[in-house]
Amino acid sequence: MKNIAVLGSTGSIGRNTLEVVRNLNRNNYPVTVNYISANSNVDLLCEQIKEFKPKAAVIFREDCYKRLKECSLNLGCEVLSGQEGINDISSRDDFELVVNALVGFSGLIPTVKAIKNGKDVALANKESLVAAGQLINFLLKGSKTRLLPIDSEHSAILQCIQGEPLNKIRKLTLTASGGPFREYSKDLFEHVTLEEALKHPNWKMGNKITIDSATLMNKGFEIIEAKWLFGIEVKNIEVLIHPQSVIHSLVEFTDGSVKAQLGVPDMKVPIQYALTYPERVESDFPRLDLALLKHLTFEEPDFDKFECLKLAYEVIKLGGSYPVVLNGSNEAAVDLFLNRKIKFTDIPYLIKSALEKHDNHNKLDLENIIEADTWSRRFVYESASVAT
Ligand code: NDP
Ligand code: MG
Repeated sequence: MKNIAVLGSTGSIGRNTLEVVRNLNRNNYPVTVNYISANSNVDLLCEQIKEFKPKAAVIFREDCYKRLKECSLNLGCEVLSGQEGINDISSRDDFELVVNALVGFSGLIPTVKAIKNGKDVALANKESLVAAGQLINFLLKGSKTRLLPIDSEHSAILQCIQGEPLNKIRKLTLTASGGPFREYSKDLFEHVTLEEALKHPNWKMGNKITIDSATLMNKGFEIIEAKWLFGIEVKNIEVLIHPQSVIHSLVEFTDGSVKAQLGVPDMKVPIQYALTYPERVESDFPRLDLALLKHLTFEEPDFDKFECLKLAYEVIKLGGSYPVVLNGSNEAAVDLFLNRKIKFTDIPYLIKSALEKHDNHNKLDLENIIEADTWSRRFVYESASVAT
């Protein structure tokens, strides 16, 4: 029996995780969900309490606490709120694995806590690795935690390197769909709407990552994520546009052999692999039919058009606290775009301005990381309010 906590259980990854749990329980791989959490979606969290009967549920927003408490009356589930609630369940010892499906910088502290408590982490929250990869890797060295990627590209790489010596990897190729604006010319970017940016061609995901996929910042983040997860130098990690999202990533070895992992674009497969790693369990998830697909195509990314991808590569070279600022300024800029306060093209502009204004520091403890994150968000919100 595996006991787990699902942080962000009401989101896109969280809901898919619970679907995977249903599948595992149907297939004689018993999983119990002891803890769940949401930001404000009380109704869905309450339905999940009824179905999964967790020991406790956390609602992040304090103003939603009373309503959750009322809805879950007589369900035998403890109700907690805020960061304190997340910290409380993170430090309990009656589960072995936490699925971190929180979005943005809010996922960092739970990742750090899980590692300190020696729990396995199934990580969807790539932002914690972007902002604090160095700190997380340092903490992992003294811990029994296994950090298992949920991101489909990194799950693909993990699957390709099973049984292979890491020092025989020559190159990682992260595939990218190219997002909804792959075929747009750069001058059209000025006029793209929120609705267009939210229409991802292949994946149905939360709003923040959908915008990150439209700017290709998501792929920039994934390069940083791959560097920290697999210890591969960034000069050996490349991005390849593959609009069908069927090949999830590739690994080239020193002898010239290339391995790839394929599947329909469905996050349930990488989530299940992280939950059962290194085992594989039966599923009735949709299957790949290559004959039906007929064509798989590839192209180079356009760095001139997708400035966020270029910025991510530059930031990796700079190191220090620049990745924290890349993440924080992006999160603030995407929030402003989602709230129709800025244009699509303001996103890279604001991130670039934050990076230019930032005073780097190389000592990256949690306190400094939080400080750089707070600074970068404030910078973006203030710059945007001056400009509008
Ligand atoms: P969603 O926005 O769909 O879900 C986010 C979850 O976190 C929800 O449960 C939400 O609660 C909760 N949440 C949001 N903000 C906070 C906060 N400040 N404090 C506590 N809880 C919060 O995101 P996704 O599921 O799409 O993405 C989650 C993570 O997974 C991201 O890091 C993303 O990059 C990564 N990822 C996602 C993929 C996907 O297919 N969606 C693919 C690969 C990676 P509520 O519902 O109440 O708002
Ligand atoms: Mg991905």
